[in-house]
Amino acid sequence: MITILPFGPLQSNMYILSNSNGYIIIDPCVGVDLTTSYLSSFSVEKVKAVIMTHAHFDHLMYVDEWRSALHDDVPFYLSHEDVPLLKDANLNRSQNRGLSQEYVVETLDVCHMDSKLFLDEYYCQVLNTPGHTKGSVCYCFSSKNNTCKPMMFTGDTIFCDSIGRTDLPTGSYMQMRDSIRLIKSLIGDYDIFPGHGESTCLSQQKQTNPFFI
Ligand SMILES: [Zn+2]
Repeated sequence: MITILPFGPLQSNMYILSNSNGYIIIDPCVGVDLTTSYLSSFSVEKVKAVIMTHAHFDHLMYVDEWRSALHDDVPFYLSHEDVPLLKDANLNRSQNRGLSQEYVVETLDVCHMDSKLFLDEYYCQVLNTPGHTKGSVCYCFSSKNNTCKPMMFTGDTIFCDSIGRTDLPTGSYMQMRDSIRLIKSLIGDYDIFPGHGESTCLSQQKQTNPFFI
């Protein structure tokens, strides 16, 4: 089951993938208290992993809070290519935005993932999709028993009928073009859950997203 919490700064979406075994947090941009009050049955004890599509501050602003709230053995996943953004307010876009303070993550041990089974049900494969940032990735989930349509969490790589900016530090339009080509080449359909805005699906984007045509 997917729960969408569109309450992050700059209206970033945080997603919670769950089943009876627990929860996976995707882009920790909503605080623990708000999450707990929004989802009455939610338990931080049952969070098994936190995964991040890229390291812009609006997608992981509460990562420190989640790190403190969770057991030490709960892994946090982020592409190593985006780790430098954590400590640099210019690179992670929190500088000069009128925030009360710039955002930096001093220490966070992150794991790099290629593929993994989560919650004993969801097989996750990582697509490296640089372009918005050098370390932007999309997480493709399929359920072990095909009980649900495959899902893709795209961060700021793909939005409904658009794509993410490529003019920010470490971004590249050439890489984005290759990343879109890679996503376009995927076989089968996926529900797409972007970092901002509404959900869509790959078959729809192949028809209506001007950057796919
Ligand atoms: Zn971004």
